[in-house]
Amino acid sequence: MKNKIKSVKGTYDLLPFEIHKWQEIENKLKKIFSLYNFREIRTPIFEKSKLFSRSVGEFTDIVNKEMYSFLDKGKESLTLRPELTASVVRSYIEHNFQQISPIHKIWYYGPLFRQEKPQAGRYRQFYQFGSEIFGSAYPESDVELIDLAYTIYTKLGLKNFTLYINSLGNKENRSKYIELLKSELLPHKNEMCDNCKNRYENNVLRLFDCKNKICKNIMNEHAPLIIDYLTNEEKDYFNEIKELLENLNIKYKVDPTMVRGLDYYTNMIFEIRSESLGSQDALCGGGRYDNLVEDLGGKSTSAVGFAAGMERLMIAMEKENLFDDELNKLDIYVAIMNENVRNESMKIVKNIRSNNFSVDTDFQRRSVKAMMREANRKKAKFSIVIGENEIQSGEIKIKTMSDGSENTVKIDEISEFLSQNIL
Ligand code: ATP
Ligand code: MG
Repeated sequence: MKNKIKSVKGTYDLLPFEIHKWQEIENKLKKIFSLYNFREIRTPIFEKSKLFSRSVGEFTDIVNKEMYSFLDKGKESLTLRPELTASVVRSYIEHNFQQISPIHKIWYYGPLFRQEKPQAGRYRQFYQFGSEIFGSAYPESDVELIDLAYTIYTKLGLKNFTLYINSLGNKENRSKYIELLKSELLPHKNEMCDNCKNRYENNVLRLFDCKNKICKNIMNEHAPLIIDYLTNEEKDYFNEIKELLENLNIKYKVDPTMVRGLDYYTNMIFEIRSESLGSQDALCGGGRYDNLVEDLGGKSTSAVGFAAGMERLMIAMEKENLFDDELNKLDIYVAIMNENVRNESMKIVKNIRSNNFSVDTDFQRRSVKAMMREANRKKAKFSIVIGENEIQSGEIKIKTMSDGSENTVKIDEISEFLSQNIL
């Protein structure tokens, strides 16, 4: 036997036995996005590396450690996209979206790549859906977006999740706050973990994310909170968002220690966390990014967006028992008694399918008993066995798999029977 080749660490196959769960969610997502009048965008899987270093930030974990980058024919550095906002903004600028309409509401769905440590809810190839609103500097656009994310989880049936919001202020104000944070933390720097010592130099806000007990204590006791240093204008903006959320009955908590792993955010940021998940509990994250379009060479444009992980959503939905097996049921399984009736049976199968019922049949020429086992395994709602008698009489017994009861109907009327008996 030759050596088996296995999948790459941190990746996974979505198998035919479970794909219906993903498709169910994907269909619902599409519907909800269109209820809010968002349009889909699809951008390439890889982009120029500098797109991400310039947007996400040189010193973030994503750019610093996690990018899958390669030289294209030994020349230009390209990167498998680690997130999608940068690509959407690149496309927005490249195609002059601004000239087409002042407001754009866009959603996306697809795989992303980050070379991080694989664990539950964290993969190296993972899927995100997300959306962006371009062109509004008003808090109602922040709330439209938060409402959208919140509604997605509500409509999918999740119960155990909480919305957290915070404000990071604008860039200028934030850099003053960062100076203050650094000076307050300096006397404690030596006690911090090695990772935090590094972050202190390049990405000090991320110190709030450290799980190390000592670092946590230092932060609790000594770190000033950005929310206490917002300008009046920023405070008003944040308060307006809170009022609008209350107006829509969307429950939230302010988490003044929340920061995000990407540099481009300004003012409002938010996360939705699930209590059904373990330590990787963020279902989605997002916020306002008013400088990014300009930073990437476009005209100054206000924007707000969020990105949501599919895998964590799937884990949370499994935990909360939200998948309905019924969805995967086959309408009818057709067992073929022997070769004499194979041709007639194939016609019958094709005919029922043409009436929009899902049909499966045998491909192994085994015993009827084995075929019925197959019908059970495939969770068929009904089954029939076609033999010479049935073909001759033109009548057949349809078995209801859930209780074993049988109804005799004309072969020509199988579809009619199904339409009367399947909701
Ligand atoms: P986290 O703090 O969980 O690492 P992040 O700060 O990197 O998330 P974003 O980059 O904004 O967050 O990603 C948005 C969402 O995408 C996360 O809330 C999570 O649901 C999902 N996500 C991020 N990284 C991964 C990954 N490696 N595998 C699976 N899902 C992920
Ligand atoms: Mg991360």
